[in-house]
Parts: sequence; structure tokens; C-alpha cells
Amino acid sequence: MNDRCILVAALLLVLLAVPVQAQPADAERSATMTERRPIPYPVTLPANVQQAIANGTRTASGAPGPNYWTNTAHYDIEATLNPASEMLRGEATIRYHNASPDTLRRLLVHLRQNVYRDGVVRNRSVAVTGGMILDRVALNGTTLDAANMQVSDEPMRGDPPVPNAYAVSDTRMAVYPGAPVAPGDTVRLDVAWHFEVPGPNNFRMGQDGETFYLGYWYPQMAVYDDLHGWRAQPYQGDGEFYMPWGTYDVSITVPEGWLVGATGTLQNPDDVLTESVQARLDRAAQTDSIVTVVSEQQRGAGSATVDASDRPTLTWRFHAEDVRDFAFGTSAQYVWDATSAETGDERALVHSLYRPEKTLWTRSAEYAQFSVEHLSDMLIAYPYPQMTVVEGISIGGMEYPMITLIGGDYDAQGLFSVTYHEISHMWIPMVVGTDEKTYAWMDEGLTEFNESEGEDDFYPEMDAWDPANQGSYYRYGGTPNDAPSMRHADRYPVHGPERVYASYSKPRVMLHALRGILGDDTFFAAYRTFVERWAFKHPTPYDLFHTVEDVAERDLDWFWTGAFYEAWALDHSIQDVTSASDGTTVTVADRRNLMMPVLLTATYADGSTVQRRVGVGTWMEGARTAEVPLPAGTVTRVELDPEQFLPDVDRSNNVWTADE
Ligand SMILES: [Zn+2]
Repeated sequence: MNDRCILVAALLLVLLAVPVQAQPADAERSATMTERRPIPYPVTLPANVQQAIANGTRTASGAPGPNYWTNTAHYDIEATLNPASEMLRGEATIRYHNASPDTLRRLLVHLRQNVYRDGVVRNRSVAVTGGMILDRVALNGTTLDAANMQVSDEPMRGDPPVPNAYAVSDTRMAVYPGAPVAPGDTVRLDVAWHFEVPGPNNFRMGQDGETFYLGYWYPQMAVYDDLHGWRAQPYQGDGEFYMPWGTYDVSITVPEGWLVGATGTLQNPDDVLTESVQARLDRAAQTDSIVTVVSEQQRGAGSATVDASDRPTLTWRFHAEDVRDFAFGTSAQYVWDATSAETGDERALVHSLYRPEKTLWTRSAEYAQFSVEHLSDMLIAYPYPQMTVVEGISIGGMEYPMITLIGGDYDAQGLFSVTYHEISHMWIPMVVGTDEKTYAWMDEGLTEFNESEGEDDFYPEMDAWDPANQGSYYRYGGTPNDAPSMRHADRYPVHGPERVYASYSKPRVMLHALRGILGDDTFFAAYRTFVERWAFKHPTPYDLFHTVEDVAERDLDWFWTGAFYEAWALDHSIQDVTSASDGTTVTVADRRNLMMPVLLTATYADGSTVQRRVGVGTWMEGARTAEVPLPAGTVTRVELDPEQFLPDVDRSNNVWTADE
């Protein structure tokens, strides 16, 4: 992003008569050199966002415009997983509908499994497999030839170079139709493929011999949106995903006795599950209690799954609507707990599949049920019929529509928190379809915020928002590792803490500060409005900023630029308290560059308290100190930000007492 250039422009505006030359990029240093503090600048809208507002696909208030559209696809996929050979084979028919006003001269498709292919550019180390091997690609029934070309999501000029051909480079495939795809048209893309499932010590998918988790395993249409046209960036490991909406009909063939958890609803329980398992699932759908659907002793063919007898495999058919991806986990070792969660007027089934030696997982279904209900209350009702948590390869937690994969060793609170975090992703980015690669802080920051809210309610004694429990922010905030959140996820230092810090813990505490500034009612009204407006659509940060400003009825550019565009830190301190007969004056010093209002509570000798809130106007004028007048009386104690909303990196100077 070009935020440093904007900073210089803003200083020119603010410091009017002061001769300005290019400031050093290090804002903290420039403050010392010039004794002028950096002033937050206006959020400038990129040209494509301005054009979208002009076109009516977005609006300046942050709501989608009347002309908003999304392209969609219907996937019919038949997948066969052979655990013995560790091979996945698939055949897909994708019906892609062009709802855009544009004529498409090519289609871009993600083959993300190629991140495991030798020679692909990555920012994470992997155990190399062959990646995805394409056995056939056909468009509208015509088999296409492979062309040797680089794939890019840059706008293509001129005619398609090779009609009726496809090209694969890195993790992307371009398909060049014989004739352009007109607005309103639907095309049929058939792909057959296979790949070796990566082993353990990979990320976000793979297998450990006992459990298999298939993510990024099929050819997926890239997003074509109103801002970029095709937005198909390569998958390099760190940066996550930007995915369009679709309907999925997926059949998964695995050995008998293997349980499958997946995106969507099982369509053929009679074909794969015994009657007693189905009866226990029916019970789970009606109860708050945890039902043991398959115990350790009930695993296997004839007891958990039906006995395939004459054939060694079973085919599980799933259907899912309005989802942006499809994933599944499977193992013969899993036990199965289920319950259901209240989601508005409905109940959603909640499944947990895990190996019995993972003893903490006996509470997993309970954690998942709490998460679905808590988030349904806080945001919008969970819109899907089920939520599945599967235990598997050691990777931490990873989210997919209606399903999450969680591996590794946790204590009970750690397992609760990661479960809540991944289920929170069902709202963002699964329903509110943000671009995680370009703006990782949107889905991770909002999800981290939600996670602290969930912890706060599930563990009331914990005080999740106490800075002591927000350690990762306070480890890096204001240090040389501090980094702006508004940065592409693949453009942070590889292996450094900056990406995770700037995408997770920093936006978490900044959103908590915003809540303190706006108050709970306005903050949550704005948050809910954002989720309602952008459910099943693709918002940018500007749509979030504009929606909050629309609901709060105030300009917050100073907040957005300080919180998300810069690496500035906050340190408010009490510099002086002077008392006279007509009142007391507290002098608050702003010792760093992140601007926040002063939130002050004074305690008097009779035990009464007075609260004062001073906006950022004083700081915006360039001052480093602000005087806060208090009514007459004997002030015994003054505290800044006593409710700990603000990300103050040094709280040792926040309290003054008369005894000092
Ligand atoms: Zn996350």
C-alpha cells in the first residue's frame, strides 16, 4: 500500500505554513526530529473502489450497491480416497454462471494443491508431492489442449492467445474458451485429476496415516468481482484465500468403516450409516445434550458404517449451498459425538470426530455448540444446517465452510479457544467473504475479537480482555516488529512474527479500543450491520470503515489510519495533577504516536468518582499534552483507561494517587 506517501500529503495539509520535506518512514523518529507528531490522514479510496461506487456495485455508506453481483458455480464432484495408496482421484463438472456485466474471454481456476509441487514459489516449507495431475480438462464438452503459458490475474489484452486450450502455472489454471462467455451465460467445465495426499508436517490439509483431511483438493473457480475482474492470486502458503460462492454436490468414496465429516449435509445416510447410528444422530438433532453417536467400541463396518460386504468401499454424498469451499476429513479411528445448537429459530447439528486417545476432545462438541450459539447471538444466526469439528494432523486450527480441522496438543482452555476461533470464521470469511490474502486482518482480527468475547463468557473468571491475556499484542506493539495490518499477507517478512502480529493480535486490540471509543451499543450495532450487509458478498476494508462510520454517524479516519495503516503505539501517561480551590487539573501526556481519546476516572476523598473523556482533537492539532479539568474537591486518585480498552503499551504511568 502507498500509505507513507499519503502520510506526507496529510502532513502537508495539516502543517500548512511549515516547510515540509519528505519525512523519514519511521514516524516515531520523525516526531523526535521535528517535535511535530505525525497526524493521522484521511483514508483514500483506491481508484477501483471509487469506480465501484460510481457504478453502483458499492456505496459510500459502506452498503453493497443496487448493482452488486457475484458469479457463482455449481460443483458436481466424485472423489475417491484410497488411504492405502494415499491417492485422491476426482472428477468434477463445474457449471459456472457469469452474472457480471462483463464478457469473459478466459476462466481462472485455482489448483491450490500445486503448492506442494516441486518448483512452485512458496513462503512455507512443505514436503513436496507431485501436486495436482490433470487427467482431462474439457469445456462445454470439448476436450482442451494444454498450452505452455504463464497464468496471471492481470487483465488480458487482445484476443485469447489459444482458444480451446488451458494453461497451468504455479497454483492456477487459465481456461481459454473457443468463444467468449457473455453476461448471463453458464459454461460447463469438466476436470479429472489425481494427486498424492501430502503427509504430516504440512499445513491446512494432509494425512498422518490414520486421519486424512482434504482441503484445496479440487479445481475451484477464482473470484471474478466488481473491483478487479479476475482476482486469482497464487497460493504460496502464508496468504490465505479469496473464494466465490457455490453449490456443491460431492460424493466421497472411502473404505467401509471410515467415518466422514464434510462441508454440507449427508444425503444418503441409509447407504453408509447403520440404523442405530442414524437413530442417535436424530436424537442429537433435538437435544442440548452431547450424544455419543459412535463410541470407541462401536467403530468399524457393521457397527458405525454399514457393512459393504461385497465391495470394500462406501460412497458418502454431501450437498451444500451458499458455501465458498468444500473440505472433508475421514478416519477409521474416529469416535463421533453430536449435539445441536440453537441458531435463531432453527437448530443446527454439531458434530465432533476425534481419536479417543485425545481425551480432552470429549468436550469438543460442547465447545462447538457454545460457539455456534454465542456467535449466533452476537452477530447473525448461523446460516448452515450443521457444524463439524474434526481432529487431525498437527497443524493448529483451520477453517472451511461448516467444518474445521484442529490438530495438535492443547489444554482444555486452549482447545475451547481454538474451537471458538475456527467456528467464528464461519461468519468471517465463510459468510462475509473477505479477501484474506490481501486483507488478512479483516477475517483474523474480527475473529480474534470474537474469540476474546467467547472466552470472556465461557470463562468469566478469566477476564479475557485483560492486557495480561493479550500478550501477543503487548510483546510486539511499538517494537521494531510492529507492522501495519493493511498489508498483503504474502508481503510480511517470511518466518518473522510480523504477519501474525499484524493480522491477529493487533487488530484484535484495536477493535477492542474502537468498542471502548464507540460504546458497546454503537460498536455492536455497526459490527452486526456490516455482517448483515455483506453476508454472501465480498467486502473490502473500506466497506467496513464506511459501515462503522455510517452507523456511528462520525468520521473515524484518524482511527483507521492509526490502527490499521501504521505501526504506531499508544502511551498515555499522567504528567501532573494540580489542585486549587476551584478545581483540579490533570495533565495527560501522549508519549507515542497512536492517537486515542483520553479515558479518565478521578476518585474523590468521599469515594465518589468522575469520568472524563477527551477526544483526539487536541492531538490532531499537534499537541503532546492535554489538560483535563475536574470539579472542585479532594482528588485522591486518577486513572487513565481504567476499563483497559486502549492498547496502552505502558500502563505503569496511568495511575496517580494523592499519597505520592
Ligand atoms: Zn483464524
